[in-house]
Amino acid sequence: MIFGVLLWIGLCVAVAMGAGKRGKNPVAYFFLSALLSPLVGLIILIAGAPAPPPVTKPRSTSARWKCPECGHPNGNDTYRCKTCGYSLV
Ligand SMILES: [Zn+2]
Repeated sequence: MIFGVLLWIGLCVAVAMGAGKRGKNPVAYFFLSALLSPLVGLIILIAGAPAPPPVTKPRSTSARWKCPECGHPNGNDTYRCKTCGYSLV
């Protein structure tokens, strides 16, 4: 009997770890598996949509554009030319 309980908990932990790797809440999946069945938790985990890839923001500083007055390359976040003070807005 105790072996069955340990196996049950072990499978729940496995589902929880799998959920964590997929970017989902491992604690929620652990309790879901423990209450219903590790098999149910595993099916929900596999049937669920895969975790979206991490969003990497492009660096705004890399985008540069020339000042129409003096041709100095200014950052995308600057509103005035650093060299001549020309308004870029
Ligand atoms: Zn300028």
